[in-house]
Amino acid sequence: MGRQDGTKAGIKHGDTESVDLLIVGGGFSGLALAIAVEGSGLTAAVVDRAAPRDVLGADFDGRTCAFADASVRILEALEVWPDMVAAAAPINDIRVCDGHSPLFLHYDHREVGDRPFGHVVENLVTRQALYRRLEKCSHATLEAPAEVESLQFADDGVTARLSDGRCLHTALVVAADGRRSQTRQSAGIRVSESAYHQTSIVCSIAHEHPHKGVAIECFYPAGPFAVLPMVDDASGGASWPHRSSIVWSEGSQLAPRLLALDDAEFTAELRRRLGDTLGDLEVTGGRWSYPLGLLRAESLTATRLALVGDAAHGMHPIAGQGLNLGLRDVAALAEVIVEARDQGRDIGGGEVLERYARWRRFDVMILIAVTDGLTRLFSNDVAPLRLLRDAGLAAVNGVPPLKRFFMHHAMGMVGDLPRLMRGQAL
Ligand SMILES: Cc1cc2nc3c(=O)[nH]c(=O)nc-3n(C[C@H](O)[C@H](O)[C@H](O)COP(=O)(O)OP(=O)(O)OC[C@H]3O[C@@H](n4cnc5c(N)ncnc54)[C@H](O)[C@@H]3O)c2cc1C
Repeated sequence: MGRQDGTKAGIKHGDTESVDLLIVGGGFSGLALAIAVEGSGLTAAVVDRAAPRDVLGADFDGRTCAFADASVRILEALEVWPDMVAAAAPINDIRVCDGHSPLFLHYDHREVGDRPFGHVVENLVTRQALYRRLEKCSHATLEAPAEVESLQFADDGVTARLSDGRCLHTALVVAADGRRSQTRQSAGIRVSESAYHQTSIVCSIAHEHPHKGVAIECFYPAGPFAVLPMVDDASGGASWPHRSSIVWSEGSQLAPRLLALDDAEFTAELRRRLGDTLGDLEVTGGRWSYPLGLLRAESLTATRLALVGDAAHGMHPIAGQGLNLGLRDVAALAEVIVEARDQGRDIGGGEVLERYARWRRFDVMILIAVTDGLTRLFSNDVAPLRLLRDAGLAAVNGVPPLKRFFMHHAMGMVGDLPRLMRGQAL
């Protein structure tokens, strides 16, 4: 999918086109932002270096995403969810265990309301839905494959030169170009970073027993092992219709050897960690791997620039929160700039961006601290820490208000919620 309509997003002045918003990176965060501002009349150009036919290929990304309920509400407000819902498996219960210890923590969504904690959707389905929704937008274009070759920041706006030679003038550049964001680097925003020395192995399984909407997170010394419910597949392609997605984090030295095992050996290793909860199982499709690390940008904004999604923060998938946090960035930034535009203010102005940064700072800081703390606390076999963890699990299980607090966090429904998360239009 390239640019479909030369005049769709912007206004042309000689060789330079004008758009209100230039979004660098058409991953989930960048696409969601362009869709979020569509109704306001703001024009947006999304530039992504990857060709749509590549990222929409079945081999590109084998992951699923666990969308917290707050993210589902955002996707509903963006009118993307109807295109995903048939492929979305509700998470009704969450079961957390510490290795093979008999102690575990059980969260049941009925203790905090009638909506599931969230839903699990294949990344391919989400990407397709976002692309289809963007195509219907009359104020946004996707320029792909394309790159931003240079950005010139001035008082009245930013001029971007694209790899195809075109120039775009914009009030605000949004860096949505992921962990290795060149846009962030070119603005001189520094990051703090550390490696976990773990790699996530991702695959899908078909299994004998239904998962009943239960997501499992088991902490092993080498890293967490997560099983996420998926919708059944009755096509008969596997021995059973029931499906789950595996996010299996292992030490980075062992992971390549596990990935190289033949199907029978790989399945046996998987079963050793999963146990027989889901009965007999088989791995379906491919295996993917992702090295894991922590990254935090030292600032969420610079002159006429805002960071969203993984460009601003990258975390361990231990709690499945990376994209959920990115969608909350998107909801907050969209609200702040649409409000500024409605008040006749400059959407790339310093006060507007400062409001965005203030709004997001605490949520980002807390989630990074929690995911990092959990990863370090659970990814080891040190006896005193094991005792502390088991005492912690028992305490949370035994104190209902504490348990409800964690459940509300898992759903993302805490803090000062942007309008899109409350189901309201911008
Ligand atoms: C194993 C694993 C499991 C996960 N599970 C979950 C989960 O269950 N729930 C959850 O919330 N999160 C999860 N995450 C995190 C989630 O995948 C990321 O947070 C999310 O994909 C980030 O999206 P993004 O759009 O911000 O960045 P990205 O997905 O990195 O997208 C960046 C985009 O920018 C483009 N780009 C990069 N550089 C340039 C450039 N110079 N010019 C133009 N374009 C450029 C890229 O092509 C890409 O399309 C998981 C992560 C991993 C590794």
